[in-house]
Amino acid sequence: MSILPNLTSEIRYASLPEHFYRRVRPVPLSNPYLVSFSPKMAEILDIDPASITTPEFTEVFTGNRLLDGSDPIATVYSGHQFGQYVAQLGDGRALVLGEVEDKDGTSWEIQLKGAGLTPFSRMGDGRAVLRSTIREFLCSEAMAGLGIPTTRALCITGSKDEVYREKIESSAVLTRVAPSHVRFGNFEFFFYRQQYDDLRLLADFVIEQFYPASREAKNPYLDLLHQVIDKTAALIAQWQLVGFTHGVMNSDNMSILGLTIDYGPYGFLDTYQSGFVCNHSDHQGRYAYDQQPRIGLFNLSCLAQALLPLIDSEDGQAAAEKAKDKLAEYQPLYTEYYQQGMREKLGLMVPHQSDAELFENLFSAMENQLDFTRFFRALSGFEQSGENHFLRDQFIERIRFDQWADAYSARLAGENSDQAERQQKMHRVNPKFILRNYLVQSAIVKAEKDDFGEITTLLNLLTSPYDEQPEMESYADEPPDWAKTLELSCSS
Ligand code: AMP
Ligand code: MG
Repeated sequence: MSILPNLTSEIRYASLPEHFYRRVRPVPLSNPYLVSFSPKMAEILDIDPASITTPEFTEVFTGNRLLDGSDPIATVYSGHQFGQYVAQLGDGRALVLGEVEDKDGTSWEIQLKGAGLTPFSRMGDGRAVLRSTIREFLCSEAMAGLGIPTTRALCITGSKDEVYREKIESSAVLTRVAPSHVRFGNFEFFFYRQQYDDLRLLADFVIEQFYPASREAKNPYLDLLHQVIDKTAALIAQWQLVGFTHGVMNSDNMSILGLTIDYGPYGFLDTYQSGFVCNHSDHQGRYAYDQQPRIGLFNLSCLAQALLPLIDSEDGQAAAEKAKDKLAEYQPLYTEYYQQGMREKLGLMVPHQSDAELFENLFSAMENQLDFTRFFRALSGFEQSGENHFLRDQFIERIRFDQWADAYSARLAGENSDQAERQQKMHRVNPKFILRNYLVQSAIVKAEKDDFGEITTLLNLLTSPYDEQPEMESYADEPPDWAKTLELSCSS
């Protein structure tokens, strides 16, 4: 039985010169076992369901056995970490096995994360722990369920081989899947080394593979920047709209395709807290929830700077000016995506000049009081002429809700909004279920005792986060008290 029948040994990124990557071999783990897999992703990759439970499947996705023709690579990149440029990073514990083209013609890189040392491991051990692998696996598939651009995950395998973090943990390998794992940092690497020919090769590669329309533009590299600005603005707006905090928005963790990538100490808001910091190593709150849109711009500025040597200034306008003009489009684009998304969350159809104020007043009333996800889901039951006690009673300062509800009612009235229709639409954008930290934590605690059932339960639940799923009602609850003090470190 072929494990990945459509795997091609050809890796598009490996068509670039040798110094863009290194050929590597995964380092085996002892007695690996399958922890979990994503049926959705298996289907996309056309994997025979019967093969998934075979020992061969586990061996391949642990890196213990290479498929015929597979010649894996680890890529080099750099990036700005917490604002500081780090000249050399790279796939320190990840390698691309090969690619699979799906029925729709999309080629997916199949990447093992945690499969051993690479030339870019620096001080690391090339490994991933079970805990962090479960977090990345579940969140990538949950984001896909929400309709938010993300790298995907096929499966997790585990081994009792020990890994040293704050304590001894067991190891695991995540199979990550994406059309490309290229980051802003891949561009920065060549820019800071003044290897402008290589920079051009990389940009040409990305344009050819992922932004073919930019090739036709008057200034293709400037257009590439524009496309990435647009995709990043859209992505971060979507994060804000579901209360997602990435936690480590370094420029090496920013995808050139506008995908959410590198899930570490991420977190979804439980109670709405604008300054929520999910990563306990982030003492300054650089990557707080409300900072993300701004950090998006910082990272795009890093990318813009790296692209400068490629941007044509023949028409007399300096490249830096052109790049600045493009960067200036970010904020308005972000605001447009965000406001459109907020209107949808509130069931509003038509833009209005008072929108920003309506959203701000709501959030300031919710601050430190209301559960983000539960409130927006419940809001679909709002009645224009009703008292709306089920909402009102959640606010400590009820007067603030009353004031807001009056303004909201007026907006709904102005649109002749129909409640039943509005509710249906609001349910398609305000998830009932999100991957709350306490839910992941419960799955991790069980998995560390070799019970992987909760991972499957969460995966199934979050594949359809907008559906009611009455038998799963308790999974929509606010976190229990024990979970309120959970701390997430960067270690993974
Ligand atoms: P991250 O903060 O997880 O995005 O990782 C930043 C950099 O450190 C990347 O280049 C990773 O490949 C590398 N890295 C993280 N953990 C390890 C590890 N355990 N072994 C080797 N490299 C690692
Ligand atoms: Mg990273």
